[in-house]
Amino acid sequence: MADEKDRFGEKIRDLEKAREDQWAAQRDRELLENLRRKQAELKSAVSAAAETMGALCPRCHHQLVKTEHHGITVLSCPEDGGGWLDQADLKRLLQKAGAR
Ligand SMILES: [Zn+2]
Repeated sequence: MADEKDRFGEKIRDLEKAREDQWAAQRDRELLENLRRKQAELKSAVSAAAETMGALCPRCHHQLVKTEHHGITVLSCPEDGGGWLDQADLKRLLQKAGAR
């Protein structure tokens, strides 16, 4: 009789274990889903911030200041004096320099 009881107890433990595994798998899925959502939120937050704040200096990560010189937009860094141009603007600038 005690033997029978043990087997019954084992079955219950097996069932509980299976349920725990299922629960763990479900929880893992939810955690992953949450992580993915957070990552997506972070990505859009970063790109939104980059758009409103403007670009950061690739050298010192200071906020770049947008200025326009003769129709060419320059992003200049007040910290290290660097200047950054769009490729199209750079081409125009080089063409202007070459034309002189
Ligand atoms: Zn800089």
